[in-house]
Amino acid sequence: MLDCAIIGGGPAGLSAALVLGRSRRNVALFDDDQARNKVTQESHGFLTRDGIKPSELREIARDELKKYPSVVVRDIAIVQARRLADGTFVLVAKGNEQIRARTIILATGLKEILPDISGLKEHYGKSLFSCPYCDGWEIRDRPLVVISEHPHAYHLAVIASHWSMDLAVCTNGANVLPPEQIGKLASRGIRVYGQRIALVKGSEGRLQNIAFADGTELERTAGFVGSQLVHATPFAEMLGCAMNEKGGIVVDDVGRTTAEGVFAAGDNATVTQTQIVFAAAGGSLAAMGVNAALTFADF
Ligand SMILES: Cc1cc2nc3c(=O)[nH]c(=O)nc-3n(C[C@H](O)[C@H](O)[C@H](O)COP(=O)(O)OP(=O)(O)OC[C@H]3O[C@@H](n4cnc5c(N)ncnc54)[C@H](O)[C@@H]3O)c2cc1C
Repeated sequence: MLDCAIIGGGPAGLSAALVLGRSRRNVALFDDDQARNKVTQESHGFLTRDGIKPSELREIARDELKKYPSVVVRDIAIVQARRLADGTFVLVAKGNEQIRARTIILATGLKEILPDISGLKEHYGKSLFSCPYCDGWEIRDRPLVVISEHPHAYHLAVIASHWSMDLAVCTNGANVLPPEQIGKLASRGIRVYGQRIALVKGSEGRLQNIAFADGTELERTAGFVGSQLVHATPFAEMLGCAMNEKGGIVVDDVGRTTAEGVFAAGDNATVTQTQIVFAAAGGSLAAMGVNAALTFADF
């Protein structure tokens, strides 16, 4: 039986595996390589790794794990997770393999649902991004667009304006901004385009134009997209973990969820603050939580 099964091999899961390996814990990390930031070429803002390719960051982390013989990394999806009567867990991997574990760390991340706009996906991660803190520096002072069908468009636009004042907001037909906010944006020279977008146009992912359904066009070279974030897996609910008002898994200061033996780390817990450095920190905390829980249980 594993001391801990880590589901998810992004920064949160990998960081948890490292700390648990160093804590002499028998762990397996399961990953099906569907990270949110797979679409990007570069990750920014992680100390000592600014500008690294997301896959390279994972390779380095996986290499470091090889030093710890009690850690196994498996490239496979987990399709089910449930608690047994004795309080331990059984995971079912794709292909029906069953894995038993005393504890679980959910490091499964989030998935984004982009606005349904033709051409948007092709530009996402190349010239359209999710967050100014991740990619704002690279597109600073350029003609930018914020595409969002959500009231959060205002917040995103105000924050994005710090990187470029040549900014437009497109709500794709959604009437989400009150007149005061439209007025405030206009007072700073930021125009709101409420009409439907027919096509996001560009070349090899480099944005050139937003073509509206009314036949008009807007030249822009980069920007940010407000997307809907959903959990990558339903395991938290299946295992009885409480969720907070933002849709994140409720965790304490060592990643403990409200379900005994289940820990969570990364985007699935932080939800509105999604950064690699936070995810890695969450993984490290959850690993300490797991090790302390097991050590006290066996003491
Ligand atoms: C376009 C874009 C650009 C970004 N740029 C930056 C940036 O520059 N800097 C920055 O700090 N952050 C950036 N982020 C945010 C960053 O990607 C996330 O905050 C971070 O990856 C979260 O780490 P995580 O480990 O929680 O989840 P993830 O990195 O999403 O990893 C979760 C992993 O769990 C796996 N998984 C899920 N379910 C299962 C299952 N059932 N079985 C097996 N495996 C499973 C997935 O395949 C995935 O590999 C960006 C995000 C996006 C979308």
